[in-house]
Amino acid sequence: MKTFYHSTQEYQEIIQEKLTNRQLRENLKTAMDTLKNNRKNLINARYTKWSDLREEGRRVKLKALTHLDILLRRFEENATKNGIKVHWASDAKEANEIIYNLMQEKKVTSILKGKSMASEEIHLNAFLKQKGLDAIETDLGELIIQLIDETPVHIVVPAVHKNRYEIGEIFQEKLGASLESQPEKLNEIARKHLRKEFKTFKMGLTGANFAIADEGAIWLVENEGNGRMTSTACDIHVAICGIEKVVESFEDASILGTLLVPSATGAPITCYNNIITSPRKEGEKDGPREVHVILLDNNRSNMLNDRNFFKSLSCIRCGTCLNHCPVYDKIGGHAYLSTYPGPIGEVISPQLFGLNNCAPMLDLCSLCGRCSEVCPVKIPLAELIRDLRSEKVGQGYGKVLGYKKEAKNSIEQFLMSGFAKNATCGKKWRSVLWLAKNLGGMGKIFHRFIPILNKWTKYRNYPKIDANLHSEIKKLQGVIYE
Ligand code: SF4
Repeated sequence: MKTFYHSTQEYQEIIQEKLTNRQLRENLKTAMDTLKNNRKNLINARYTKWSDLREEGRRVKLKALTHLDILLRRFEENATKNGIKVHWASDAKEANEIIYNLMQEKKVTSILKGKSMASEEIHLNAFLKQKGLDAIETDLGELIIQLIDETPVHIVVPAVHKNRYEIGEIFQEKLGASLESQPEKLNEIARKHLRKEFKTFKMGLTGANFAIADEGAIWLVENEGNGRMTSTACDIHVAICGIEKVVESFEDASILGTLLVPSATGAPITCYNNIITSPRKEGEKDGPREVHVILLDNNRSNMLNDRNFFKSLSCIRCGTCLNHCPVYDKIGGHAYLSTYPGPIGEVISPQLFGLNNCAPMLDLCSLCGRCSEVCPVKIPLAELIRDLRSEKVGQGYGKVLGYKKEAKNSIEQFLMSGFAKNATCGKKWRSVLWLAKNLGGMGKIFHRFIPILNKWTKYRNYPKIDANLHSEIKKLQGVIYE
């Protein structure tokens, strides 16, 4: 049984390890900068009404979430009419059992997998391994991390922490390929390796980006064609999908699809849009003979009942909040010790897996608010992280899953109340600035010996205190207070 609990000590150790890994930091920075720039350039060049589109996306998701019970039943009814078998899984255990039972029934010992964060959430691969069964990843990033026995570092680009030279070495060691570093060559190696798998497999499993209630169809967005192969080349296609992925109509899904791809990769459109409406029909030459959709709850219903945190169910898993996070790009996804890292991970992990199990994760945020500014469906991520912090210290309303009031940190309380007293009184604040200007330089010499400050400067340069800071601020304050 997977345990979700991680102590502050575990978090501190893994963060320290990641911060001191220069290669990892370089890889992450390069990748995050590329993704951010691609997104920005595309939006500036092509979308004059991006902010209206975001508002539409927010509206579509909130409409779906506030009618979720009706839409889920409608989806089931229409999908069943189309010949799709719909399964309901209240938690990870039930979802895994459904897949296991299907494999047993069809006498299948291995499945092919397209990219699916829901399958990561239920730890499907580990579950199947325990049962002596196999899952072969077909997404390039997922294949890379499966070969080195790791978990995804990012919700869209699972192996983004590895550069092309490292990937070449992995393929050489694990697949016996020649040592390559050109992306085209690396793709070719992965393609050759996977082609033979596609020919022999009977069951394929994918995620789903949207489930469309009016049509009883699922929409799978992907870039590599492996999702299409996995969902069509096998006799049986199983899609696993969180219940919050249901929207009313194709029109609604297409608004979200238009927001998803530029946000995720900075491309205007994805290479493959797979809209799966039914199994193979009589007279058709290809496609799966059976399609199963597993609707996964796993605490989402509890999230939906929360008047504030339910907004996080609007997430379309584009990953752009991770790409813009100044914490994520230093430590990467593994340091969050959860399936879901980054800002959205900090918001949904405590709700999905229990606040008591991953509370230290909430400290991995500077509340800079960039994530809220870029989220295509306008989830107020920074506000929600702050509200979860209130829950963590017993100042919320105590309804989040696994809520347990944390013991108060008296040093932190003392420092924060001191800061509040000084920052809210002009006279005191000016004195603090005077001290910072005149004594701040001493910190440069002694910071290594000052507890708390030395933790901060361990991975950062001591800031240069601007000699003009005090007089500049005083001038400004003079204007304000006059
Ligand atoms: S919270 Fe918003 S930005 Fe982050 S992954 Fe979800 S949709 Fe994308």
